Amino acid sequence: MGILSDISFELDVVSISKTVHVEPDSPDGRTLAELIEQARRMARPKAMYAEAFIDAKGAETVTVDGITFTSRMLRANLEPVERVFPFIATCGHEMDTADLPAGDFLVEFWWDAIKAVLLACAIRHVNEHLKQRFALGKTASMSPGSGDVDVWPIEQQRELFALLGDVKGQIGVELTESFLMKPNKTVSGICFATEVDFRTCQVCRRQGCPGRSAAFEPALWDLHQHGGADGQIS
Ligand code: SF4
Repeated sequence: MGILSDISFELDVVSISKTVHVEPDSPDGRTLAELIEQARRMARPKAMYAEAFIDAKGAETVTVDGITFTSRMLRANLEPVERVFPFIATCGHEMDTADLPAGDFLVEFWWDAIKAVLLACAIRHVNEHLKQRFALGKTASMSPGSGDVDVWPIEQQRELFALLGDVKGQIGVELTESFLMKPNKTVSGICFATEVDFRTCQVCRRQGCPGRSAAFEPALWDLHQHGGADGQIS
């Protein structure tokens, strides 16, 4: 188990102002700058991961260290893989202890944007750490609940958290009864070495998503829905 709790981050006022469409020299811009300064003082982005091995592969299942996941796409992606890295990266629960003005939705929206930057730093850090420590080349990852609803059902967060152990005790992330994570700016998933470029966005039909990082691929989607002759994606 690896715990990464000393993650450096940069909160750039100009960049965040642009993201939330606020003029830095305006009154709103000055409020935003104060929030960013507050976040610099209190933010502690974190991540945890494990090195785990695949015990068995079924038609639509993969069993990792005794815990079984059901997802045709995950199964297909892990066809050539024997070792995976379950992980969680978070902006840090400290950000949820901020004393923000109650009911100010604009401030909450800006604070969330700052948390998103911290989460991105944590994701980048854990990715780079895994690549260096385990000499991985190209990697990809999948997350329960990411993309179309049946690609990898969000309920399997339960199994992913079980694989990682005491997540709350180690990095302060909680899983709610509806399988969402607290803090909200947290990502969980399984990272794996691959020769194939894969992003969940390729099998997600959601339109107008601001986070889309790859175009929808109908052929890959069809393969996910119906399976190839050998169940592999490439
Ligand atoms: S398109 Fe948006 S919702 Fe779909 S997987 Fe990508 S980031 Fe997630």
